[in-house]
Amino acid sequence: MTAFSKSQHTLLIPDLFPVHMELLANAIRASGYKAQVLRTQGPSVLEAGLKYIHNDMCYPAICSLGQQLHAVISGDHDTRSIALMQFQTGGGCRASNYVMALKKALQKLGMEHIPVITLGFTTLSRDSGFRLTPILCLRALAAVTYGDLMMLLKNQVRPYEVNPGDTQAVMERWYDYMKSLLFSASVLPFQLRKHLRQMAEDFAAIPTKTQKKVRVGIVGEVYAQYSPFANNNLEEFLQEQDCEYMLPGVLGFLHYCLDGPAVDRALYGDSRIKALVSKVTTGVITAYEAVLNHTLKDFPQFVRPSSFRHIRAQGEKILDRGVKMGEGWYLSAEMSELVRHGYENILCAQPFGCLPNHIVGRGAFRRFKELYPNANICSIDYDANASRVNQENRIKLMLATAREKAGLRQQTAAV
Ligand code: SF4
Repeated sequence: MTAFSKSQHTLLIPDLFPVHMELLANAIRASGYKAQVLRTQGPSVLEAGLKYIHNDMCYPAICSLGQQLHAVISGDHDTRSIALMQFQTGGGCRASNYVMALKKALQKLGMEHIPVITLGFTTLSRDSGFRLTPILCLRALAAVTYGDLMMLLKNQVRPYEVNPGDTQAVMERWYDYMKSLLFSASVLPFQLRKHLRQMAEDFAAIPTKTQKKVRVGIVGEVYAQYSPFANNNLEEFLQEQDCEYMLPGVLGFLHYCLDGPAVDRALYGDSRIKALVSKVTTGVITAYEAVLNHTLKDFPQFVRPSSFRHIRAQGEKILDRGVKMGEGWYLSAEMSELVRHGYENILCAQPFGCLPNHIVGRGAFRRFKELYPNANICSIDYDANASRVNQENRIKLMLATAREKAGLRQQTAAV
């Protein structure tokens, strides 16, 4: 494998969080790297994953590694000047094997000279040449915070906009502006405050109609939950179905991942050093969460995310904090949080081949329904061979139940 060089290689990053990835790429670019987010979709991309990745791997591996392998074989890039960036959770599920699977596939293709950069919650390939410096980490956290607020506001404004396209126009303006913000050194939580507020004001100024719509919360395995490639453009479909949908913020997911070593220390006596790093990093994330939360205090028309501590307390009513495989206890905690904010209809995206999320997702539904009997939950399986029509029909059925329930409640209220 050729050593990664900042000046020679462009990092190809799979598309995980559609709203956030371009911002994260800018955070990386601001540290002098060249980066490109892969937005490719479709049968040829899936085929690249299915052909070169072992079929024991889960569907998100096929999609995200498939995007990178497709870029390698497409002929669109000079393979001497690209590097592939992959995320590695370091946990017990297949996410810890993505990098090895990618390296094996590159070998099969005779492309082992392409550098692979591993970016993980507990690891960064030391000899990779990519430096996760403190300023890069802070820029990345700022990018996620801006992305979370933009996603939260977009989801609540777009379904009700009077002039179609207004929300998109505000988003595009902010993407441009945030690029300059992320290139600056002003990325500490208190330095974000003014800009977050301006963003909330811009979205609040978009003319909207007062109308009641079915509200849907999206949870599930993180890749299937957010990535339009993995979930067959679920957000677009819900928009066409005239719903308001909500996706929980990415900061919360990062917080959950980084909280793991502290839990391991408390429960199993694991490494004191790791627990200390966990405490420090989650403390930093808490500061970004707090500034986002504080911004929304003056905008009561928008849902304000709860603190991680509160979400964790909700999650503990369903699963123990020691359950950390896949999305672990955090998945049902997200469901509770959504229901509490009025998103009683929950779609749970489950990828094929993902045992952990079937356990913490479907496996926790019964307990969840005991706590929230009004919740209307539907889990959808995503796979390379799953029928999109079947997936959409299941969602339509769930929405029909939701509309019926809303109608019944309205009638009851009128009586
Ligand atoms: S959580 Fe499931 S889908 Fe995601 S990487 Fe792990 S095994 Fe694969």
